[in-house]
Amino acid sequence: MFDTLSDRLSGIFAQLKGKGRLSDADIDRTAREIRMALLEADVALPVVKSFIFQLKERARGAEVSKALNPAQQVIKIVHEELVLVLGGEGRRLQFAKQPPTVIMLAGLQGAGKTTLAGKLALHLKGLGHQPMLVAADLQRPNAVQQLQVLGERAGVEVFAPEVGSGVGDPVQVAKDAIEHAKRHMRDIVIVDTAGRLGIDAEMMAQAAAIRDVTNPDEVLFVIDAMVGQDAVATAEAFRDGVGITGVVLSKLDGDARGGAALSVRQVTGQPIMFASTGEKLEDFDVFHPDRMASRILG
Ligand code: GDP
Repeated sequence: MFDTLSDRLSGIFAQLKGKGRLSDADIDRTAREIRMALLEADVALPVVKSFIFQLKERARGAEVSKALNPAQQVIKIVHEELVLVLGGEGRRLQFAKQPPTVIMLAGLQGAGKTTLAGKLALHLKGLGHQPMLVAADLQRPNAVQQLQVLGERAGVEVFAPEVGSGVGDPVQVAKDAIEHAKRHMRDIVIVDTAGRLGIDAEMMAQAAAIRDVTNPDEVLFVIDAMVGQDAVATAEAFRDGVGITGVVLSKLDGDARGGAALSVRQVTGQPIMFASTGEKLEDFDVFHPDRMASRILG
């Protein structure tokens, strides 16, 4: 991920190296080239526009014109602006004052929700919590079984309708799960929900109904970082349809251009909290905007 963008940016910066002073023309050219590089990386247009505006404002200001090494200064500004685009300080999970803390996962089918549920459970267990997974994705064949396998691997209880029990209502499953968690002293409940291949009113209504019965402390929107431009519309639909409190980027190990990762924070207004970087349970990280920006700049 980001390889092309990283290469493009280092090429642009290389042209500035050794310059004693940057003229307005130098700054304009650099800004134009960075704009192209971001657009080619599939970053959403409004995000690119505000990024370039900030970059130009700052590059024309004193911090660059008075700098002994203006190229270095431009790189610093780009780094800082990337950190901001990715969410600045970052944010940690909010825990309920009265356990259990409920974390609901939402996103399209194939985004990586079920996988993420297992990863998050393992991560939280490692921090000393007693998480419980809830199989409320009754849409996709095998989603329940997939979650059970992941739960077993993570050593975490999975609350699921009995096989063949005929319990087909994910809202009821989610509701029962919260009661079960309270009775069994689970302090975190992670609810996996159904997605569809595209935005779908029924899916959104179901997710909203699960939200209403579980009253989640966090609604994490899981987005496949490989999807590019479509990410923006999907993110907006979930923000408006379900209401989200945070974002998880999945498949950051892929070789996509990275536009979704760089757009989703600004589009949703919510922080990126975790990153999924592979199919194994351990392929998971707390998201650090600063580290990601450093990775992009190489
Ligand atoms: P869901 O439909 O949103 O629950 O998506 P799944 O969790 O079932 O994931 C869909 C597919 O993507 C599965 O084959 C996962 O193994 C795979 N997957 C999930 N997360 C990642 C990731 O971070 N990296 C890679 N390479 N594959 C992933």
